[in-house]
Amino acid sequence: MASGLSVKRTARLEAQDRISHEAFAYEAEANVYRCPAGRKLCPTEGRKTNGHRIEIRYVSRKSDCHACALRSRCLSAKTPTRTIYRWEHEAVLERHRARMQDAGALMRRRAELAEHPFGTLKCRAGYRHFLVRGFDKVRGEWSLMALCYNFFRVLSILGFDTFTTYLANRHPYWALWLLKTVSAIITRLQARMSSSQAKVRPAFACAM
Ligand code: SF4
Repeated sequence: MASGLSVKRTARLEAQDRISHEAFAYEAEANVYRCPAGRKLCPTEGRKTNGHRIEIRYVSRKSDCHACALRSRCLSAKTPTRTIYRWEHEAVLERHRARMQDAGALMRRRAELAEHPFGTLKCRAGYRHFLVRGFDKVRGEWSLMALCYNFFRVLSILGFDTFTTYLANRHPYWALWLLKTVSAIITRLQARMSSSQAKVRPAFACAM
């Protein structure tokens, strides 16, 4: 089955009106590439290391290419066969490309839903990187940030008074706890701001 997916990998060949990689269809069941002339390129034992990627080498048959009408556009004068390199995990990319086809509306919806929290956390909270290392710690840190964001959204949508009234009616203990916590945070922030202003002032005084 041909994947029908293409990646722009050989713009240079296209500029020379040569047949590029994208014209070769991968047939997963047979594990071969099919060239524009309908011939197979079979995998070889050879592997190529391209950075961290291991690529499998697919080569056409010399006899097929020798008699091919597309030869001048497919091969250089001195090359008897065509070679295509395929990343050993290319199937993962192909599945992803298949999912992303016609996914424009989905991506726009994702941008509306998912980018807003990220943008808000980055721009308003200045949260641009994790402070801890390790999956569990990062998950904990992210959960706290998500809690803060969700709390902020609830307050933005409902307003502080509506929210505390709701809590007072439904959960009086939580309403009291919330008021005490917010009040403690505000007090601490005010104290921190005044101490940092006190530290900054002499510097300005010197500069002046
Ligand atoms: S030259 Fe070979 S690989 Fe290229 S299209 Fe012809 S048969 Fe296929």
